[in-house]
Amino acid sequence: MQVITTASEMQYACRALKNNRTLGFVPTMGALHDGHLSLVHRALSECAAVAASIFVNPTQFAAGEDYDVYPRTFDADCAKLEAAGVSLLFAPSATEMYPPGATTFVEVASIGDRLDGASRPGHFRGVATVIAKLFNIVGPDRAYFGQKDAAQIAVLRAMIRDLNFPVQLIACPIVREPGGLAMSSRNRNLSADDRRRALILHHALRAACKLLQTGETNAEALSSAILTAFANDPHVRLDYAAIVDPATLLPVSDTAHGALIAVAAWVGSTRLIDNLLTENLPIDSLLIDNLLLEAPHV
Ligand code: AMP
Repeated sequence: MQVITTASEMQYACRALKNNRTLGFVPTMGALHDGHLSLVHRALSECAAVAASIFVNPTQFAAGEDYDVYPRTFDADCAKLEAAGVSLLFAPSATEMYPPGATTFVEVASIGDRLDGASRPGHFRGVATVIAKLFNIVGPDRAYFGQKDAAQIAVLRAMIRDLNFPVQLIACPIVREPGGLAMSSRNRNLSADDRRRALILHHALRAACKLLQTGETNAEALSSAILTAFANDPHVRLDYAAIVDPATLLPVSDTAHGALIAVAAWVGSTRLIDNLLTENLPIDSLLIDNLLLEAPHV
């Protein structure tokens, strides 16, 4: 695996690697876990060659957020990507991506101000900008993103459509730890107690899932089951529980035609997110990602 730190070299190497074949791309912020690697494996199974990036993007963190303490495990990440079969890794510095004087940003209006965009003003402006830049640098045919960041997927699909990026966005299922906690680089920052508490996000979604299985589609009823689950632990502060259209992120009153049920919560000083998509209803297969495959009782 070749590790490249400048945009111009990466552009050149990606063109050579692509050579009329399908190029897959997996952008990450590093501190890689099996969720990230599931994207890499999916990309490798569908593309002739795969490039990845590791870049903790400062523009998607507001002042006072966790940019400085975001986990960074570069050497271990390189070993994982190389072992998986990634050909090119782009790992630029912040000044390489944002040279002095850089003033151009990509803003996905409206959608970018919903869910995490509402809680973290400017977050999706940073995300859309860095992904647009990475698409221009790598030139992938297919880009792989995790369903865990469901709002990010909605924002990026809108950006790809609006700016005519010749890229297909592939959304991949959420990978969970054995107890059900969605894998996240930020889980590394959780204390043992907080890690136990963090399960509440999963439990709340399971509560909604159980209701869905009984045929309930009313968003208020589903929301109330989620809020009840969060009320159980005063140490976990709910940021939002939203039942929305997965493409527009606007609230829906009923999930019968498919909805995204998303939660965000502060566990100690760490903000975590999780979600489920109801689009696979009827859910008699119990497969909403792998949300119901493991058992801790709510
Ligand atoms: P990040 O490094 O957090 O920016 O994530 C890079 C990519 O990995 C994004 O597309 C995420 O949605 C995806 N990702 C993160 N956690 C998971 C997970 N538990 N399962 C699947 N994909 C994930």
